[in-house]
Amino acid sequence: MFTSINPFTQETIAVYTAHTPQEIDQKLELGYRAYRQMLQIPLEQRREWMKQVAQSLKKDVDKHAALITSEMGKTLKEARAEVLKCAATAEYYAENIQDMLAPRPIKSDAYKSYVSYEPKGIILAIMPWNFPYWQVFRFAIPNILAGNTGLLKHASNVSGCALAIEKLFAESNFPEGAFQSVLVSSKDLEPIVADPRVQGVTLTGSTPAGRSVAALAGKYIKKTVLELGGSDPFIVLKDADLEAAAKTAVQGRMQNAGQSCIAAKRWIVEKEVVHAFTAEVKRIIESLQQGDPTKEATNMGPMARLDLAEELNKQLQASIAEGAELLTGGYHDGCNFAPTLLKGVNVSTTAFKEETFGPLAVIIEAANEEDAISLANETNFGLGSALWTSDLDKAARLATQIESGNVFINAMVRSDARLPFGGVKESGYGRELSLEGTHEFLNIKTVYIQ
Ligand code: NAP
Repeated sequence: MFTSINPFTQETIAVYTAHTPQEIDQKLELGYRAYRQMLQIPLEQRREWMKQVAQSLKKDVDKHAALITSEMGKTLKEARAEVLKCAATAEYYAENIQDMLAPRPIKSDAYKSYVSYEPKGIILAIMPWNFPYWQVFRFAIPNILAGNTGLLKHASNVSGCALAIEKLFAESNFPEGAFQSVLVSSKDLEPIVADPRVQGVTLTGSTPAGRSVAALAGKYIKKTVLELGGSDPFIVLKDADLEAAAKTAVQGRMQNAGQSCIAAKRWIVEKEVVHAFTAEVKRIIESLQQGDPTKEATNMGPMARLDLAEELNKQLQASIAEGAELLTGGYHDGCNFAPTLLKGVNVSTTAFKEETFGPLAVIIEAANEEDAISLANETNFGLGSALWTSDLDKAARLATQIESGNVFINAMVRSDARLPFGGVKESGYGRELSLEGTHEFLNIKTVYIQ
């Protein structure tokens, strides 16, 4: 059984029954058949169908947004933006996928040799609840366009979203089975991973989940892409535009109630400006309206589950006990967690050492720019990073020293259909989006003609 609970009201929205092994086998068969069918369907046709998926998302944006908000609590504004981002990405790939799939000629001693990018079968996608549409679509769009089919195992608290996305594809012109959802517990995934019709596994989620799924996939020699946790540094140097940096830091940390892998989780600020920066971010944080996610005035909803709010509170209390100073917030009522700010955080503080997945911002003072970079890298994670400075040459030089899958200079880290997305270290491996992401689950086939 999978229960969806509205995190703001704590009401049970729906209870879903897990699929039986027979039902799962039927889905695998359908997914495999759709893959075989898609091999015969010209790319041009698949592009048209993907544009229709985008249209359908846009037409029903309010319905999808309401479902997202009810199951995981982000504000309706954020949920609408998420659905529209999926639609825009579907349109972007429908327009640009030919170039990404075009055979690549290579000069060799052959008469002709080239690389051809070909689909492989069903890709199992294990996805989290925090962006319950976006995480799914950013995997599904390029893969389905390229001819793979998708089987989604969504997080247990967003089964309604999983089924709504399945329905959306079922009502599209793609072959039946091109995208399906399977309601299954994470402990029952082995037969699916082992099945030869499944040719890859992509997981977006926590590092422990990634470790476990990678081990399982390794057992059956299935390619994996892992998009895991992060503890992104947000570095503010003394020559930065402090006002813009402060505004972006708060947005980067507090959007989605702080539940984003690429949230700005560690604010590392050069000592000369730490005072001014702290005052400005405190002012902005205190202006945030946390509460009912369906209300227009609310700019931060509840956290998605009670256990997550309790876990964040434990990390907060541990950090205070270790010497961090609470500047604002610091309490929660059920899933409603007040936007919170700590200063005096250092490498031994829990909120520095662990990923914090909620509206908790922390300020870490750096002695100089070398110290800032060293603090930024003092983590097992390596997903995103941001660097604020008015010296762009310095920024380019320092960017090479940060151990992360991306560096955003004077901007908020975000995923963008046009740019590859992924991490290093324990934030995972492989990429989603862009050319690199599109190729992850394709057979990069060498063709040699003499
Ligand atoms: P999670 O607990 O790891 O769950 C993610 C997905 O993995 C869910 O579908 C979950 O299913 C499944 N899962 C959990 N343990 C598993 C296991 N041992 N074997 C197989 N599947 C397993 O993560 P979450 O709490 O939903 O999401 C928050 C985490 O995701 C954070 O660490 C965040 O940074 C990370 N994240 C990363 C990215 C990225 O792009 N790098 C994006 C978003 C989130 P159940 O729900 O059924 O347990």
